[in-house]
Amino acid sequence: MENEDPFANALTQLASITDILSVDPEYYEMLKSPIREITVSLPLKLSNGNAVTFTGYRVQHNNARGPYKGGIRYHPGVTLSEVKALSMWMTWKSALIDIPFGGAKGGVSVDPKKLTMDELERLTRKYIDALEEEIGPEVDIPAPDLNTNPQTMAWIMNEYSRLKGHNVPAVVTGKPIELGGSEGRNAATGRGVAICVREAVQAFLKKDMKSVTVAVQGFGNVGSNTVKTLMEMGAKLVAISDVVGGAKAKSPSGTFEQSYERLIDESNKAGSISKISGVEEISNEEVLESDVDVLVPAALENQIIEANANKIKARLIVEAANGPTTPMADKILGRMEVNVIPDILANSGGVLVSYFEWVQNLNRDHWTEEIVNDRLESKMKKAFYDVLAYSQKNNVDVRRAALVLAVGRVVSAMKLSGWH
Ligand code: NAD
Repeated sequence: MENEDPFANALTQLASITDILSVDPEYYEMLKSPIREITVSLPLKLSNGNAVTFTGYRVQHNNARGPYKGGIRYHPGVTLSEVKALSMWMTWKSALIDIPFGGAKGGVSVDPKKLTMDELERLTRKYIDALEEEIGPEVDIPAPDLNTNPQTMAWIMNEYSRLKGHNVPAVVTGKPIELGGSEGRNAATGRGVAICVREAVQAFLKKDMKSVTVAVQGFGNVGSNTVKTLMEMGAKLVAISDVVGGAKAKSPSGTFEQSYERLIDESNKAGSISKISGVEEISNEEVLESDVDVLVPAALENQIIEANANKIKARLIVEAANGPTTPMADKILGRMEVNVIPDILANSGGVLVSYFEWVQNLNRDHWTEEIVNDRLESKMKKAFYDVLAYSQKNNVDVRRAALVLAVGRVVSAMKLSGWH
């Protein structure tokens, strides 16, 4: 029976490289467990007078290479196990893209769509009040993730600054530009994903971007910015989905011919990309199983699992979401010779530009979008080709190659600082 527990899957991935990378047992034990797991109770009086208590988490996995770093997720399915897995993946991601951060993650088990803006603001402030001693610009720096956005980050910055009695922009990244956010941060994760698609298409499919067909699952921050950049690169978008359902392009060319701006506008008005005009409504499963060159899962964990892995027709999967493929599905995809660019590489553009934002805040500086995008492009390409070279030289799949490089760097930092 397939295990869909995210932390169990993160541990299976870690175990999968021990035959290539020899890690001393005491270091391996330290990597298996996050350094700190915090659970907080968040009582909230709703505007209708009812009181509800939500549960929030912050898990700090490892800080050998620098302050803890990782997003905050608002979702009814948030569990401690999920946050632990995401915190471990953040440690690997920061190491792989080679920035001086460790890994952490936070989450609140809540359906934000059922709360008003005022309730969401008060919940966010309560969460930060509860974590005041655990976060900070040199300690642990949150960022956006599922269902959180620049507005949420603005509340976090304001609440933390209020508690400290002075303005502390570097405590959180992904802020609005007006409050010290970085140019290019909002689009960074999707942009980085698209760069990985472009390089992987060249390396594995030997195709030109203009002839490549793509399906994207998820049309939020990461999915939509991936779509935008892929369209700019000339790729053919064939299917897109969100939580409501999937949309297959119905134009004569079989691809979305609307501009990106129109896709966003229409899906906002219709409530879902699946409800816009000129598309065929399909299921989320059908989007994943689309007959395309490239599949980009950009929604949640555990989307490509044992039950559907052998129905995937794409020859290349680029993981924009964290943990979208289970280890069992990974094995099946390997046998089918589907190339998978793993999450810790593909979506690392987000934490990379978060690092740029933190550097700008600490220096009271503001870089142009051009500088940010140039630095994003060169760091993403370096990480991509370092992983590819390791994979080809040692004949291991790309996921394990990425993990070996990342875990190796973390262990090296732990050893040099004498961590036991
Ligand atoms: P978001 O809340 O902005 O968007 C999520 C999207 O997924 C929405 O379109 C939603 O409708 C859709 N969705 C939710 N459940 C779905 C389902 N069952 N089937 C299909 N679509 C579904 O979140 P986001 O920030 O875009 O994050 C998406 C993924 O990317 C997550 O796994 C997140 O951890 C990862 N990620 C995000 C960032 C970032 O900078 N925001 C960075 C790295 C990784």
